[in-house]
Amino acid sequence: MRFTRALVPTVKEAPADATNVSHVLLTRAGFIRRVGAGIYDFLPLGLRVLRKVERIIREEMDRAGALEVLLPALLPADYFKETGRWDRFGDTLFRLQDRKSGDYHLGPTHEEIITDLARREIRSYRDLPKNLYQIQTKFRDEPRPRGGLLRCREFLMKDAYSFDVSEQAAMKSYETMRDAYIRIFDRMGLRYRMVQADSGAMGGSLSAEFQVLVDSGEDAIVACNACTYAANVEVALVKRLDAPEPAPSPLAKLATPGKKTIEEVTAFLQVAPARMLKSLLYVAAGSVVMVVVRGDHDVNEVLVARAVGVSEVFLATEADVRKATGAEVGFAGPVGFSGRVLVDHAATRVENAVTGANETDAHYTGVTWGRDYQGDVVDLRLAKTGDACPQCASGTLASYRGIEAGHIFVLGTHYSAIMGAEYLDEAQKKKPLVMGCYGIGVSRLVATALEQHHDADGIRWPMSLAPYQVHLVNVGKDQAVQAATEELYSALEARGIEVLWDDRDERPGVKFKDADLIGIPLRVTVGGKSLAQGKIELKARTEADPKKATLIARAEAVEFLERAVREG
Ligand SMILES: [Zn+2]
Repeated sequence: MRFTRALVPTVKEAPADATNVSHVLLTRAGFIRRVGAGIYDFLPLGLRVLRKVERIIREEMDRAGALEVLLPALLPADYFKETGRWDRFGDTLFRLQDRKSGDYHLGPTHEEIITDLARREIRSYRDLPKNLYQIQTKFRDEPRPRGGLLRCREFLMKDAYSFDVSEQAAMKSYETMRDAYIRIFDRMGLRYRMVQADSGAMGGSLSAEFQVLVDSGEDAIVACNACTYAANVEVALVKRLDAPEPAPSPLAKLATPGKKTIEEVTAFLQVAPARMLKSLLYVAAGSVVMVVVRGDHDVNEVLVARAVGVSEVFLATEADVRKATGAEVGFAGPVGFSGRVLVDHAATRVENAVTGANETDAHYTGVTWGRDYQGDVVDLRLAKTGDACPQCASGTLASYRGIEAGHIFVLGTHYSAIMGAEYLDEAQKKKPLVMGCYGIGVSRLVATALEQHHDADGIRWPMSLAPYQVHLVNVGKDQAVQAATEELYSALEARGIEVLWDDRDERPGVKFKDADLIGIPLRVTVGGKSLAQGKIELKARTEADPKKATLIARAEAVEFLERAVREG
């Protein structure tokens, strides 16, 4: 493609609402344009990247035996009403009515639609397993669309759904998808971790997220430095360390006037935060529970909710705390507390602990688990850097931030049971289909890849995702340069190499700046001085030194570049 015929509207200014580097660079390099909040145009270069993401996904899904379908985006309300999601989705659903006042919505996800297809078309165990996928536009009315392509209201997704005869067979389908996802993200040249995730509102027994490691990522994850253990911090566990049985001192009450926080109490009593018990009150399903962790640990509310068996817990109000403990906020403790107590395992190992006395301006010391207080011992604390890995003998956890690029999980029979999607087994008995579901944010990956691959000058596309493979630049208007560039351009195109030729009548500085911004992996410069020696100049976009370029003989250029493209 010649630049003069292309549409590559590069600009100097970042968008005013940009908070992410991908939003800035995709706009500045002329890949996307904003149409409305969370709604974007893909310009020709942006679309080329999007299509490459799609192609890799499609190839690996097909290779894994999945079958491509295309389901509608415009959906009659009946299906979501059938599963209750018409109400549960709330304001996130884009709703509309047709001319006959019938309820419709734009699809935010397609479990119901695919389950309906399955209940009509899958009859017998002989039809199974099946895995159906689509690459399709989704709509979600996000409260805060942001980050350019990272959180949109209209976006492209790949969603796949597997149907099996049993939980065990569904596990096999899940593993096949997991392997396909690993190939997909490897081919895209991304640094990522497959992490254990909370299956959350979707239900389901087994799930994993593919988190692309990026400092600007929204998700906090921890990963072991010695084994494969990695988890979203929401669900991450920490190894229980068996500290020696404490040698208890007697329980004693001390006056701690006005000392409410861990910092105030530890400073006042001259004890380390790890000697404290932090006691927080939560409201879960209408009743108050006390959660106790070590003073230097933080509470993981997802684990608390799980321990109580509810979907969400909320910190108690000051009034609730006063009512439950009889004291001001800051003096709660498990000793003598009459409600339910959940204790993190590490808190039970604190020797002669200090904790609130459920009495304003008073704390206990010498608090000993089992003797002075009881409760349910569970894992409740937030994992952090340096904690012991729960999976292996010697590893420790480190914290990372990530952007969720994919999510796979076994759904079980949640949708098939509600919607009556059944098959006949070998004994001619009706059974619900066992489902799995597997998503990838396709348009989001364009931005995610960039978040990981850029520098101060612009984008550095991995070869597999780059809009073009070679960025050809001619320097000067010299006839010989023009002719040599033209010849090289034609030769590369003839070999199937994707070339963007900056044939504009611009200064070299302008062309090089745009080349760095756009981020095509290989830049080839044809200029008078090197051309006179029969050479052209090659510079990889990943080369950090701006002065460093390789001279290659003109006669060998095509083969050299072909190899470089192939090797990525
Ligand atoms: Zn480990």
